[in-house]
Amino acid sequence: MGNKGLNLIVCVKQVPAPEANVRVNPDTGTLIREGADCIMNPFDAYAIEEALRIKEHLGGKVTVISMGPIQAKEVLKEALAMGCDEAYLLSDPSFAGSDTLATSYTLSRAILKLAPFDMVLCGKQAIDGETAQVGPELARWLGITQVTYVSRIREITGEYLVAERLLEGGTQTVKAALPVLITVVKDINRPRLPGLLGIKRANKAEIPVWGPVDIGADPSMIGLNGSPTKVEGLKSPPQREGGEVIRGEDEEVIRLLAQRIVSIV
Ligand SMILES: Cc1cc2nc3c(=O)[nH]c(=O)nc-3n(C[C@H](O)[C@H](O)[C@H](O)COP(=O)(O)OP(=O)(O)OC[C@H]3O[C@@H](n4cnc5c(N)ncnc54)[C@H](O)[C@@H]3O)c2cc1C
Repeated sequence: MGNKGLNLIVCVKQVPAPEANVRVNPDTGTLIREGADCIMNPFDAYAIEEALRIKEHLGGKVTVISMGPIQAKEVLKEALAMGCDEAYLLSDPSFAGSDTLATSYTLSRAILKLAPFDMVLCGKQAIDGETAQVGPELARWLGITQVTYVSRIREITGEYLVAERLLEGGTQTVKAALPVLITVVKDINRPRLPGLLGIKRANKAEIPVWGPVDIGADPSMIGLNGSPTKVEGLKSPPQREGGEVIRGEDEEVIRLLAQRIVSIV
């Protein structure tokens, strides 16, 4: 930790809104995100909130980064409105088609440009890709410790953190030296809503856009070139037939339901 506090970097992804009708590019099998209604990946709001709380506790700076089309500036503005200090967008046609490996590589190059850093925060997963791979891969590219599925930070100093990880059926408490990457679950906090001043500040903020040259990325490691995962096919689940709704008074419904079950077995 420098004498100005911690340098915290949050990775934020813009994802299609759950109700958005996202089309698929038939040639590449990738989603056509441009023009779709988008939101901040919900888990990333928890990562931002945690970074802001750490900054309030120990001092420092919160920087947000995102890789995506130009419209991803919207989620970065939201992050600035919540209280983050700086935002950078990684956007270039050569980043298109990135799988998780190329995405994490690209994010790692930007983070190295922002070094020295003490902590990188990610959501546990994105609600569109849902791989939960980017955080762990990013830690690997950066050569730092990772603590995934964090549901509570019990203690944090300039040297280490003690965090609870949410596991199936319990929690695990771990201590890790900084710099560290964490991925967070929604139990960790309740993200704040941006205030009016924050929104005004965010609207005026300049968000630099970095391409591969700015972050010193190897062209063979980004976009489709750097993506070993190829989409073989995509299909929607078959439409399910609507079920039957039995209406009536309680006893009548029970009688009809029992009749129906008996007729099936
Ligand atoms: C062959 C292939 C091609 C693809 N092409 C594209 C494409 O052209 N455009 C596209 O948008 N997606 C594309 N994708 C999807 C893309 O790989 C994933 O969405 C992306 O790598 C993140 O994976 P995920 O969504 O599973 O995130 P997860 O690993 O589930 O995300 C975990 C956390 O990592 C961070 N994170 C993830 N992605 C980003 C990001 N982009 N910026 C900042 N932080 C991030 C967030 O903190 C997030 O909460 C493609 C996927 C494949 C397999």
